[in-house]
Amino acid sequence: MNSDAKRDYNELLECMQKQGGSYDIPLIEKAFTYCVDHHKGQKRLTNEEYYIHPYNVAKIIVTLGMDSQSIAAALLHDVVEDTNVTVDEISRLFGDDVALLVDGVTKIGRLSITSKEQQQAESLRKMLIAMGKDVRVIIIKLADRLHNMRTLAAMPEQKQRDKALETLEVYAPIAHRLGIRPVKEELEDLAIKYLDMVAYNEIEDLLKHRKHQREQILDDIKTRIETRLQAELPNVKMSFQGRVKSIHGIYRKMYVQSRDFDEIYDVYAIRIITDTVADCYNILGIMHDMFQPIPNRFKDYISTPKPNMYQSLHTTVTSREGIPFEIQIRTFDMHHTAEFGIAAHWKYKEGVTGTDKYMEDRLAWIRQVLETSDVSGDASEIVRTIKVDLSQEDVFAVTPQGDVINLPVGSTVVDFAFAIHSAVGIKMVGAKANGKIVPINHEIQTGEIIEILTTNQAGHGPSRDWMNIAVTNSAKAKIRSWFKREKRTENIEQGRNDLERELRRNNISFNDKEFEEYIEDFARRMRFADADEFYAAIGYGGVHISKILPRIREDYTKKASAAKAMDIKPLAQKRQTSSEGVVVEGIDNCLVKLSKCCAPLPGDDIIGFITRGHGVSIHKCDCSNVPRDIINAAEPDRWVNAHWDRVVSESFTSTLQISAIDREGLVGDVMNAAYNMRLAVHQINARQIKGGNSVININISAESVEHLRSIIARLEKISGVFSVERVVQ
Ligand code: MN
Repeated sequence: MNSDAKRDYNELLECMQKQGGSYDIPLIEKAFTYCVDHHKGQKRLTNEEYYIHPYNVAKIIVTLGMDSQSIAAALLHDVVEDTNVTVDEISRLFGDDVALLVDGVTKIGRLSITSKEQQQAESLRKMLIAMGKDVRVIIIKLADRLHNMRTLAAMPEQKQRDKALETLEVYAPIAHRLGIRPVKEELEDLAIKYLDMVAYNEIEDLLKHRKHQREQILDDIKTRIETRLQAELPNVKMSFQGRVKSIHGIYRKMYVQSRDFDEIYDVYAIRIITDTVADCYNILGIMHDMFQPIPNRFKDYISTPKPNMYQSLHTTVTSREGIPFEIQIRTFDMHHTAEFGIAAHWKYKEGVTGTDKYMEDRLAWIRQVLETSDVSGDASEIVRTIKVDLSQEDVFAVTPQGDVINLPVGSTVVDFAFAIHSAVGIKMVGAKANGKIVPINHEIQTGEIIEILTTNQAGHGPSRDWMNIAVTNSAKAKIRSWFKREKRTENIEQGRNDLERELRRNNISFNDKEFEEYIEDFARRMRFADADEFYAAIGYGGVHISKILPRIREDYTKKASAAKAMDIKPLAQKRQTSSEGVVVEGIDNCLVKLSKCCAPLPGDDIIGFITRGHGVSIHKCDCSNVPRDIINAAEPDRWVNAHWDRVVSESFTSTLQISAIDREGLVGDVMNAAYNMRLAVHQINARQIKGGNSVININISAESVEHLRSIIARLEKISGVFSVERVVQ
């Protein structure tokens, strides 16, 4: 051993001393020497001696409180992979236990990679199987990944991203499941640093900036809490910690849940650790007396531990200065589990193997995953099963009917109710989880059966503070829109006015009775309870008139032609006769001229313009001479609604221009088609144009727009014809 290695070894010993407990020092020293000797001459990308890596992994293993075998295996974890040492030799020199661990870690590392998905699936599966055998393998692998992430800067950029993504998707969730919080958080923070450097730096800056403002205040608060608690509970052992939420935790709230930094209440937390569960609740009571608790932010993970066995009381309160902060209260035992999770099992317990009852319970989920996924099958199938199970991003709960609802982690029963249907959310009065009544801020856990209790009482609706309880954007939006509808009267009035104005502008006119009936019916078809609800939806912008107008127009046209077919009175109020078969609203017996610019035909949507001394000229609504926005046009009062007098059935002349490839017999074919359609042809002329094409203008009588359309369609079928258009004279 050279002097550098000696210094490092002594540091490892110091680390172990700090942990307390007894270690197999000869075994660890032998493993250390063996590691240094066998990696001699190898360098890492950081340009350090290679042994620095297994040495650091071993140090992490020590700080997690793991046993001597694990420490030795950590030191030896890369020798089989990177040198000519065999597992048998490890077994001979260090015993079967260490050899099994080294073999396990080596196997996880050796993967034949086909695709990214495949690779992840494979590594997940192998880790789970390894964990099932001896969970220490995975803890060593996590420590290995942690040190590699700490030194990731030396890697090429693409590799950095790949490793960071795998860390976030595979390793951090496993650390979370095993309850090893410091490893989980550091893995996530390092992953974010490489995956989203800009956001990482932003959060780091925010924390640094706010630190100066708030550190003093939080220190004061901590002192106040300590003084008060020591006065009230003089014989209770307590320990106090201040803590800042992890960067990844803040990142998720800011970028995934789009919260503002200042809206994240648990950025700062004060942790109080004490002896007994009773003390925890006593302390909670004193905290709620000292500070104003924020409603619905209290979580009792002591009575309901998280799936990874985490236990603690969480409450968010506001300081005198108005700064919200979280208080976590737990026992020393709970704290130990919270910090080390499954690794806590080994602390001070030499010689424990991974097969007792305690371990069985904790690793039950691994067996479950392995059983539910076909281990020999398609790897991407497995990755889905496993990811669903490991994902921290989602929880899955079911309705009593068995429908699975997928929600982001932290979602409450409010989110659940609105995820089923807005109507369920709005009518909610309470909820049950697994048959027990839970508060409305109950956080959904995967696998829970959630039953939403509703009322049909009229006037019942969500409460305003549900906006703060809901986590999902969709639930928030639905609650918000409900409150929009709260201002119902104004919305209805606005909606009705908007719709009526728009219909007028589009020359859709009903008489009052018809209008009420029609809108009532239309609203129902649109799945509104009644016309008022429909108007209200228009009023608050939930329904855009432009989107529904084509349907109304279609209905209106159908209704009009049905009325015509049955020879009943048309829908318009009273017959107003006028020339040219046009009725101009509000004006009787006026002179009407069909404008030349757009040559309207019966069936066209039309509008009238009161000319100076020449009567009313009728244009098609889409004529370029009709202003788009009549209200704001130069002379809005001159534009009047007009429609075709539906009883009158006259013929109108219209000119069609037929463009075709010139050929012999073309004009004859056109005339023949006209004859077959029994068309009255008033004029026809044909001329050749450049490029071997010809143009035929034909002036005919048509009864309506529909008639004209059918004529055009027939003419277009003539061989060589490539377009038939109505000519505007
Ligand atoms: Mn390694």
